[in-house]
Amino acid sequence: MYEYDIDAVDGIDRLRARMDDAGDDVTAWSHILSDYIQSGNTKISKTTAIFNMGSAHDCPNRETDNCQVPWEACYAGKAERVYKQTLPYRRRQEYLWDCMTPELFADAFMALNARKRKPYDSLRVSEAGDFRSDADIVRMNRIAELIDIPVYTYSASDYLDWSLAPSFTVNASNDFADYGDRRFMAVTGDTLPDNTVWCPNGLQQADGVPADDRIKCGECRLCINADGPNVAIPLH
Ligand code: SF4
Repeated sequence: MYEYDIDAVDGIDRLRARMDDAGDDVTAWSHILSDYIQSGNTKISKTTAIFNMGSAHDCPNRETDNCQVPWEACYAGKAERVYKQTLPYRRRQEYLWDCMTPELFADAFMALNARKRKPYDSLRVSEAGDFRSDADIVRMNRIAELIDIPVYTYSASDYLDWSLAPSFTVNASNDFADYGDRRFMAVTGDTLPDNTVWCPNGLQQADGVPADDRIKCGECRLCINADGPNVAIPLH
């Protein structure tokens, strides 16, 4: 199933032991899941939960025409090359994703969120990697039906059946097919296509605003809301 040796992934034995110990205890699963969810980053607010279904190295769209970013410039891929624990961590995320039913994932997520002093108010899926199959879409859609915060993603997997995702927001990263809730695109120059607005974070980056002072995803909800215009980031 995996194009790498899952048994050789650093930390996989420890993860498997924790999963064995958890049994049908949702609280125990919530602590495991909590260790595989990250709270925001320099571009995403701390109240956004980030979960990857896999790594950039194993992304189904890596070095294909579907992806608009050259592999050398892929931000997620760079992190996996620079920080030696990042790739095994994301491979363990993929394993965890493949082992949890959507119902268990949703219950565990809500349990971990209930413990937070400042709960997550959105779930961002696949900051690294991308949806591999229609089954991933069906499972994520079920999770989005069950948890009480919005779920959103960006995907270049234009060849999948995105009509299976009515309950979460999909930002389409290419225009090879008419899919998702909106296009998210890079635009060169100052002219925007019809029904398109600038990403405020991207605009501020282009204007030289320091990262800490920029509007973050979560504060801006253009890509999180299912309704609304297309979004463009400036390329200068
Ligand atoms: S438009 Fe808003 S939500 Fe989308 S990437 Fe930019 S800052 Fe984030």
